[in-house]
Amino acid sequence: MSETRQYDKCPTCGRWAWLDKHTCPPPWECYDPDNSEPDYADTLYGYDGREVAELYFEQNDSEYDYPDEMTVCVRPSGSDAAWEKYEVEAEAVRQYNATKVE
Ligand SMILES: [Zn+2]
Repeated sequence: MSETRQYDKCPTCGRWAWLDKHTCPPPWECYDPDNSEPDYADTLYGYDGREVAELYFEQNDSEYDYPDEMTVCVRPSGSDAAWEKYEVEAEAVRQYNATKVE
């Protein structure tokens, strides 16, 4: 094992990985057509449009008061491809909090 081996969050794509072996997934442009415009698209990294649409919602959730659904348009960065449009749903995840009573 080399000394540079490091499990960390990639500064480019934000994924946790062994950075010495890591290759970022392809970049995508993404925006929310209800609140933004293609000119203000963010860049996110993922292997397909669906994954990137989910990631976009996750990262922008709190800005819109945690809605249950968001429409997200995505396309590969630097392309003139048609925007793929996704309806993304957010699901609450159960959390378990223990309180000691005695
Ligand atoms: Zn990366």
